Formats: sequence, structure tokens, C-alpha cells
Amino acid sequence: MHAKHQALKGKGNNLDGYKTIIRDRYGFSVARMNRRKAIRYFCYECVGWETCEIEKCNGKHLDGSLCSFYSFRIGRGKQNVKKRDAAIKNQCRYCMRGNFISISRCTSRYCPIYPYRNHRTDRTYFYPASLSDDEILKFMLQN
Ligand code: SF4
Repeated sequence: MHAKHQALKGKGNNLDGYKTIIRDRYGFSVARMNRRKAIRYFCYECVGWETCEIEKCNGKHLDGSLCSFYSFRIGRGKQNVKKRDAAIKNQCRYCMRGNFISISRCTSRYCPIYPYRNHRTDRTYFYPASLSDDEILKFMLQN
């Protein structure tokens, strides 16, 4: 990891959570991240960043197969933690046509579910929530 990256990541404490950079309709934005939000952001992107379209989703991919995020897409209410994590792994398997090596080597770091694609959370692109969004975006532009 780049030394400057490590220095930035070490700034502040991590007690108030993490932020990462995701794609959005304007390019990129900084978002606080956890699995529940990651699915919500993924669905948001899937429907072209039109929030109202998430509720209308029929839960099917274009090839007719069922989307594993369907029951988690609203992001509210109690969720089964294990099923939610399994849904993320399923989505990555769908994306990479079942190739586990491709999933672990995925380079789509701005995909909202990227940190959760493997068995262990990938914190490579996590930043302490104590950093401002501008600091994080500026760092991204410099690297
Ligand atoms: S993290 Fe990578 S493998 Fe998983 S859905 Fe996103 S792009 Fe596909």
C-alpha cells in the first residue's frame, strides 16, 4: 500500500465507522459503508440512481434470473445478517459467472459491495469516518 495512503488511513480514530468511495450519478461520492448500505447503493446504481425505481424493481436480472438483493433492497427493517452476506456473495458469483478467483481479484473498487465480496471484509479502500468527504476525494484524485 502507498505510504501516503497509509498515513491518511491512520488519521483520526475508526470508532465512528468507515467511509469509502462509490460510483454515483455524478461520478463518485463518499459514503459511510456497511453491508446494509452497500446493497442499497448497489440497487440504487442498478436502477440508474432513481430511488423510486428500487421499490418498483421486479427482482429479476435481464436474463430472467432472480436477483439475490431483492428482499434487502429497501434497506430498512430487520435483516438476517447471514442471508444478507450470502446475498452479496451470490451477486458477486453472478457478476463473475461463478469464478471465485475473479471475484477475489476484482478490480471494481468503486462497486458498493466490493469490500464484502470475499470471506473477510476488504478494508483496503476504507477511510476513517473522521476524515471529511473532501479530504477523501482529494486523496483519490492525487492517486
Ligand atoms: S465487487 Fe466485483 S465481483 Fe462483486 S459485484 Fe462488484 S464488480 Fe462484481
